[in-house]
Amino acid sequence: MRSFSTISDLISLAKENCSNISEIVLSYETQKTQKSKKEILEIMNQRLIVMRNSIEKGKKNNNYSISKMVGMNASKFYSFISKNSFLGKIVEKAICYALSVSEVNACMGLIVACPTAGSCGILPGAILSVSEEIGLPDEKVVLSLFTAAGIGMVIGKNASLAGAVGGCQAECGSASAMAAGAVLELLGGTPEQVGHAIALALKNYLGLVCDPVAGLVEVPCVKRNAFAAIHALVAAELAFAGIESIIPPDEVILAAYEIGRLMPKSLKETSEAGLAKTPTGKRIESLMNA
Ligand code: SF4
Repeated sequence: MRSFSTISDLISLAKENCSNISEIVLSYETQKTQKSKKEILEIMNQRLIVMRNSIEKGKKNNNYSISKMVGMNASKFYSFISKNSFLGKIVEKAICYALSVSEVNACMGLIVACPTAGSCGILPGAILSVSEEIGLPDEKVVLSLFTAAGIGMVIGKNASLAGAVGGCQAECGSASAMAAGAVLELLGGTPEQVGHAIALALKNYLGLVCDPVAGLVEVPCVKRNAFAAIHALVAAELAFAGIESIIPPDEVILAAYEIGRLMPKSLKETSEAGLAKTPTGKRIESLMNA
């Protein structure tokens, strides 16, 4: 199996092999690790179990993070959607699951960093809401995680996955692109459509800064995960409908790299500007440092 360094490589390999992007990434992993397909699939299945466990834990969470800025919103939202339906089941579950996993992270619980801890709720929120509501088997969901992983690898190679390097576009933007591609493969989209979903998701996060209050991965991070999960669903649905991104995914990724390079240090996880330096942000920071 040829290696890949761009989304275009992934799409070409999938087309040459008459397969999905997930199968290309799975084969790459078996070659790289010298493990069998069965072993690699089992490792990924364990990641899926961790995602599900963090969702369940977050839904019932009645604790706050040490800063008290985060906690109990997932359970509040879960209880709300059990009685009301405003946005529809897939969207409501995606919000709830993304909040749950992110709160578990902020409360020091076990999550899957996908691609980072700060953006850990987006992928599980998007893929598990869709797979549950459509009724897809776990084998498919596990495979979609390979699609997400391949997209993350390409973004990490050509841009960045770290807020400290590229701002939040690198974390939540990348996670949203990974989730959009994974959802589209779950829905049965073509590799080209996966490419458009990636581009649509990431380009609408370009320029997003990283300005966490008190230097903690809590505000704006946790609620941002909920928004980014929905963003991924919108990108997947648009691409599945045949709507294309005028700028191809690899060019969007290079734009993310360039924008991250131009972004001031004060907006790259240093908490020196933005939300972190609002009056409330500064008050919380002083309380934390007292
Ligand atoms: S704001 Fe910064 S710390 Fe928070 S999720 Fe985004 S990149 Fe991570």
